[in-house]
Amino acid sequence: MGKLAGRTALVTGAARGQGAATARRFVAEGATVIIADVLDDEGKRLADELNAFPVGDPGDQTRQPADRPIPLPAARFCHLDVSEEDEWAAVLETAGPVTILVNNAGILHFGSVADTTLADYERVIRVNQTGTFLGMRAVVPGMIAAGGGSIVNTSSIEGLAAAPLLLAYTASKFAIRGMTKVAAMELGGKGIRVNSVHPGMIDTPMLPTALGGIEVDLDRIGRKVPLRRVGRAEEIAGLITFLASDDSSYCTGAEFVADGGATTGHALSVT
Ligand code: NAD
Repeated sequence: MGKLAGRTALVTGAARGQGAATARRFVAEGATVIIADVLDDEGKRLADELNAFPVGDPGDQTRQPADRPIPLPAARFCHLDVSEEDEWAAVLETAGPVTILVNNAGILHFGSVADTTLADYERVIRVNQTGTFLGMRAVVPGMIAAGGGSIVNTSSIEGLAAAPLLLAYTASKFAIRGMTKVAAMELGGKGIRVNSVHPGMIDTPMLPTALGGIEVDLDRIGRKVPLRRVGRAEEIAGLITFLASDDSSYCTGAEFVADGGATTGHALSVT
């Protein structure tokens, strides 16, 4: 039996990248997953794919015997802009008892302190930071009624240390780290665990999207870290699955870094 059998999980920003990898892994572990995103076509396609092969590795037809009774849908797409309070209410109304929430949706914006417009700043804060707050607030009553749950908030290594030209993003990711700890302190007594994950450079569409499609040499970036490569979305999904499951039953309010060692050294270290 999978680590998440019988549980309903809501993953934001799950149409692609780390969110999609998490949705795939959750389904493989037996969860029912709500794929929530603003990318309707990609999200629906992923839900269809996961419902076609609901057990094991999606696409591996040997895991889905032809004579098996048709199971309940393993995944469902819901349109959700995480920065919109009303949309959270609408999604939760039809979701059933969500006991796992992954606040994964996020956007990146490059700009110096002097050049970041108020509109750019607020756009990033609304999705990354306000979206995480609204998500936690939306699921907590249901989790309390269900006797507990697990919330995983996606921060970044920019939630631990600064990066130039990432003012709004860094502000939002530090905020997520802080909110996680407040929520963990308030909700531990209700059986709800809240942790943050801090990925380093992961190969997803996020960076090319933020750079307007400019090609980035990820191998060159990857060579800078102790593991000498960038990460894969599946590696973050594995960490999130650990935090969503009972394997992490004594973890709350904690920061889980998956960065290939990027934050291990300091600026004066010699390699
Ligand atoms: P991605 O761009 O591939 O995926 C992000 C998803 O969020 C997309 O599907 C997008 O449509 C969705 N999204 C954006 N705005 C939304 C909104 N308002 N409402 C709902 N969904 C919305 O990026 P990713 O790399 O998979 O990023 C996932 C998370 O991981 C983000 O929070 C990101 O900040 C964080 N992260 C990424 C990296 C990296 O190097 N890729 C590193 C550290 C942290």
